[in-house]
Amino acid sequence: MDQKRTVNNVDSGNIRLRRQRAAFCPACGKIVELMTFATAANTFKTDTQDIELLAGTGSLHRVHNSQGRVMICSISLFDCFDNRRTRLLDSHFAEKASERWKETHSD
Ligand SMILES: [Zn+2]
Repeated sequence: MDQKRTVNNVDSGNIRLRRQRAAFCPACGKIVELMTFATAANTFKTDTQDIELLAGTGSLHRVHNSQGRVMICSISLFDCFDNRRTRLLDSHFAEKASERWKETHSD
């Protein structure tokens, strides 16, 4: 019971934090959640250099928050890393499939 209440408090705290970090992303054309470069990197187990590189190529949207700080649009972030992961999975499946094809067609 007490544990559950604690978890709920943490959740509502996160939601408040998210609202404070939301801003209009011109590339998405809507209000998005913003992330710092460090948070973006941590979320996808990469480093800030990777995030800066992706932001530089336009794969990630850079948005200024109310303090004028450059943040990352979370929608572009999730899109970018989801696509990346899908590509990795696809190539893995393709490899496995061609291995299996060779095995079954070896003679
Ligand atoms: Zn965006």
